[in-house]
Amino acid sequence: MAQTRLLEVPVKGMDCAECALHVQRAIEKLPGVESVDVLLSSEKAVVRLDPARVDLLAIRKAVEDAGYSVPDAATPPSASMGRFSRRMTTLLAVVFSVVLSIVVAGEWLGLFDQLNALVPLSIGVALVIAGGFPVFRNVVRAALRRQITSHTLMTVGAIAALAVGEWVAAVIVVAFMRIGDYVERFTTESARRAVKELTAMAPQTARVERDGVEQEVPVAEVKVGEIVIVRPGEQIPVDGEVIAGHATIDQAAITGESMPVEAGAGSRVFAATIAKLGSLRIKTLRVGEDTTFGRVIKMVEEAEAHRGNVQRLADRFSAYYLPVVAGIAALTFLVSRNPLSTAAVLVVACSCSFALATPVAMLASIGASARRGVLIKGGKYLEALARADVVLLDKTGTLTLGRPQITDVVTLNGMPSSEALALAASAERYSEHPLAEAVRAAARAHNLPLFAPEHFEAIPGLGVRARVNGRTVAVGNRRLIPAIESLPVAQQLEAQGKTLLFVALDGEPAAILAAADTLRPEAPAALAELRTLGINHIELLTGDNQPAAAALAAALGVPYRANLLPEDKINVVKEYQAQGHTVVMIGDGVNDAPALAQANVGVAMGAAGADIAIEAAHIALMREDWTLIPDVLRVARRTMRVIKINLALTAVYNLVGLALAALGVLPPTLAAAAQSLPDVGILANSARLLRQQR
Ligand code: ADP
Ligand code: MG
Repeated sequence: MAQTRLLEVPVKGMDCAECALHVQRAIEKLPGVESVDVLLSSEKAVVRLDPARVDLLAIRKAVEDAGYSVPDAATPPSASMGRFSRRMTTLLAVVFSVVLSIVVAGEWLGLFDQLNALVPLSIGVALVIAGGFPVFRNVVRAALRRQITSHTLMTVGAIAALAVGEWVAAVIVVAFMRIGDYVERFTTESARRAVKELTAMAPQTARVERDGVEQEVPVAEVKVGEIVIVRPGEQIPVDGEVIAGHATIDQAAITGESMPVEAGAGSRVFAATIAKLGSLRIKTLRVGEDTTFGRVIKMVEEAEAHRGNVQRLADRFSAYYLPVVAGIAALTFLVSRNPLSTAAVLVVACSCSFALATPVAMLASIGASARRGVLIKGGKYLEALARADVVLLDKTGTLTLGRPQITDVVTLNGMPSSEALALAASAERYSEHPLAEAVRAAARAHNLPLFAPEHFEAIPGLGVRARVNGRTVAVGNRRLIPAIESLPVAQQLEAQGKTLLFVALDGEPAAILAAADTLRPEAPAALAELRTLGINHIELLTGDNQPAAAALAAALGVPYRANLLPEDKINVVKEYQAQGHTVVMIGDGVNDAPALAQANVGVAMGAAGADIAIEAAHIALMREDWTLIPDVLRVARRTMRVIKINLALTAVYNLVGLALAALGVLPPTLAAAAQSLPDVGILANSARLLRQQR
């Protein structure tokens, strides 16, 4: 099979969803292109292609032939047309209503007819041409490429009005073509802004220490391993580890939580967060796109590619919409022989509203959520979340704090417990599992010397194995080391609901470590809320032992399955999916990443700094806070509601408008003025999603 590759191509000049569709078609047609997703919000096309058969040059040519351009390098984002704020949209709606009322009044008082009679037609024609020139030019260009745009229909409408001497109507049509354009650009731009505002938080410069002197350099020039200095009030430019100093850090840029956290030597810090009090010396671990913040930005930007069914349907529909309108106009003319009602039909229904209805709402929610520390990777997942009915939960690190404490160390062969602990902690040195951290912490607490492990091996869902000081040390559960579980001491500890780690030395049972973890305090209330939101089935899936799982499940009042391997968790997800359920899997990405990916919606808890969690999940919660889960479910449902309203508004508007226009009730002047109404409606309706309540 041919190797395919993803290529990102920036595309300029797409003003509305219709244009995105043109670009998509143009690229899709190329041989060697497997799939294309055109992202209106980030102005690029993501192309999966076979590099042996097609290259950037061919794509650029196709895009240019379709009437758009491919800038050479990343050009700075287009000048902002305004912020997507509730105040801005209210203002727009007010201005729009005023203009609309003026046109209605003019029509009603017969002012337009008087004007028509007073001023000669030639002046009217001149006005139409002068005012509409840029639009007409585009229409002709599109026609030469055999494309019909909404402007083509409106231009035909304007010409029809002129043909019967109604030049005022033609002027108003042209004027609103341009106003409508502006509204549409404002709407798409606003949706883009919801996402791009996040980018504005990205750090620009860093103060690095080179050859003993501090110098300020652009962030892109900082290298991994370099020492960065951050003063009070400054933004941390890179992901790194604090090597000296102490500061309180506002991590809102990443976690959405403005409550500052403390950082000192050894702490991990993140790019785009702010050191409030205190200075830090930081060893750079990651820069730019590789940082947690960089990944978040990239994923939010790409969110537009993960379209849900609603959007796909709307896109497909809008492709057939213009020809249908043209057909209705032709029919109107045949039946009524009235050029004015024909013109009104052509003018009234011409907007991208169907295509706008979904992405504007999705992007508003995705952008607003990202600022709150909830990373949603696409509209598809909001759609699935809104109709989810089964929620599966991972235990360790997800439901529990994931900071288990070692409570008991029992040796089986007379070895001192400190030696057993030191060997276990050395073997666990490179494991990311919360239990591994517990073992290391216990060893640290006793000041035990650790050894560098060789041949380290993590066995998902079972434990770890490594060579330490020439001995093979295995640490894990009963499946990894089966011989120990039957011992009375093991059963006794397990009956206390503790998680047991068995230690084997050179294959011989050597010790038992018992760990206890605490339930996250806000989890039970969040689960109760999920139930009131109509999630009927909540189930605990864990790799931990039966008694530990049973104790927790009983406390939460949910069914459970214990002793699961990562692939068992996937199978449980599949089992529910096969029964027709929409499954949400909530995990921490440790040992459950495949199940997160398999679920209709995989939600990762506390994803800041945990790469697999960010990669595998569809929704990543950047802070460990269960209250975010019912929140994001509500956001999903509200988004779908707003989309349905958007689509319904557009459909009703177009049906009524088309009917009135075809019947000759709606004159072209009013039709033109009303044509941007659904766009304004969509914008105002979707703006409600920008403010998410807690
Ligand atoms: P959960 O489903 O509760 O999150 P995991 O799938 O992460 O649990 O792990 C399942 C079990 O595998 C743990 O309870 C533990 O017994 C064992 N295990 C996994 N990783 C390790 C490790 N690094 N050290 C010791 N035991 C481990
Ligand atoms: Mg886990």
